[in-house]
Amino acid sequence: MTKFSDLSLDPKVLKAVIEAGYETPTPIQAQAIPYALEGRDVLGIAQTGTGKTASFTLPMITRLGRGRARARMPRSLVLAPTRELAAQVAENFDIYAKYTKLTKALLIGGVAFGEQDKLIDRGVDVLIATPGRLLDHFERGKLLLTGVEVMVVDEADRMLDMGFIPDIERIFKLTPFTRQTFFYSATMPPEIERLTNTFLQAPARVEVARQATASETIEQALITVTPPRRDRAASEKRKCLRALIEAEGDKLTNAIVFCNRKVEVDVLTKSLRKHKVDAAAIHGDLDQSVRTRTLEGFRNGELRILVASDVAARGLDVPSVSHVFNFDVPTHPEDYVHRIGRTGRAGRDGKALTLATPADDKLVAAVEALLRKPLPRGENPVEAATGASSDKSASTPDSVDAAPEAKPRRTRSRKSAAKPDSAPAARQSAAAQPEATQPEAAEAATPETTVAEAPAPATAEERKAPQPQRRKRGDDRKGAVVGMGDHVPDFLMREFRAN
Ligand code: AMP
Repeated sequence: MTKFSDLSLDPKVLKAVIEAGYETPTPIQAQAIPYALEGRDVLGIAQTGTGKTASFTLPMITRLGRGRARARMPRSLVLAPTRELAAQVAENFDIYAKYTKLTKALLIGGVAFGEQDKLIDRGVDVLIATPGRLLDHFERGKLLLTGVEVMVVDEADRMLDMGFIPDIERIFKLTPFTRQTFFYSATMPPEIERLTNTFLQAPARVEVARQATASETIEQALITVTPPRRDRAASEKRKCLRALIEAEGDKLTNAIVFCNRKVEVDVLTKSLRKHKVDAAAIHGDLDQSVRTRTLEGFRNGELRILVASDVAARGLDVPSVSHVFNFDVPTHPEDYVHRIGRTGRAGRDGKALTLATPADDKLVAAVEALLRKPLPRGENPVEAATGASSDKSASTPDSVDAAPEAKPRRTRSRKSAAKPDSAPAARQSAAAQPEATQPEAAEAATPETTVAEAPAPATAEERKAPQPQRRKRGDDRKGAVVGMGDHVPDFLMREFRAN
């Protein structure tokens, strides 16, 4: 087995890695680091949880150890799709570079320009950024990318989902041809393949097993919820979720609950809190300071349940999460793998429970096809207690859920400025993925909004913070209409009641 000491890393990096408590390199590290240290481009096909961040950060620090930063000319650039992921890379960098003199700056939306400008003016070795924010700085003339020796693109397939590919291409072109490139993606759709063919030079391709096959320590179950009426699906699922949380008792130390849509994240959080469950929300429309505080609380164990959208929780690195709940079956089967990978990390046990209604059959089949095995069926505690799939529950609606099931009060749509991070998506005229299958990304992809019913802030702090409540058209769509592209008339997407 390869040891870290076999990898020719800078002794200062080695010391930091050992202090971090790592005993052996993960497979992606053992494979990628030698190529990276030879100066080769690396194409890494790996997901979060595999140790991929260290697989590019460690050789990058080793390489940058020689040489000096120059004003406004960062020597390396790491691009990540979300603020959280960029912040996490920055944290990793701090750990591994602690015995070096290398400097870094973090350019992400929601954080003031001033401080980062100062750092860049002085000169940084490592610049970690989301693509939109990086280009904002570049366009303001604050930054030159001609000194970039190493460029990393992390989670490229997620960048594709979010409409960042044109920005990535542009950034590639702004950096020198002689740069070394590390490019990471969990999957290789054709658009990503094209990008790597264009911008990587004879890359060493390293691939690690899909996380689904690696995470054997995760106990998975599919819980079927059979609502008496379709429009009660969400409230029945909320009831089931509460019962599952209660049934898990002390075994549930902390959990992430994933929803497909931001509005559902808000409604569910409000409902849980009303039922005295310690929960808070995280999704892309919340103010950055609220997101940071919520994550911090979850990381340090003050918050028990984090209700999240896929994009916001992307790459979230909390070492011990006992449970993951999929409140919705993800519309992209790969997201199932990402989601459940938040638990059962580093060989720990974890439990991943997915709620599904009969209407989700196709989505469940897609997940099972990806996993190449059926999901074990678990018991629905509500239906087990009432002995049936419940007309009874229909007659006793829970009070929070008397709130509409994520149905927005529609007003006239208005144009609104896209946030920096979502600007490129707005610029990209045709979203790379069909809107209905990419709820959160799709929201970024259209500047047209409708005003939703205001979700209640989850905490006192959140009540103080600004609470953007933008919703975009398409958010309330339940599924794609085949054959109409992006131009589906709204009346076709409206729910009807089958009483
Ligand atoms: P990543 O896939 O980069 O998000 O890393 C997943 C988690 O694995 C992080 O918490 C890292 O701190 C941890 N990790 C990375 N490399 C190792 C290693 N060689 N041994 C143990 N844990 C590691």
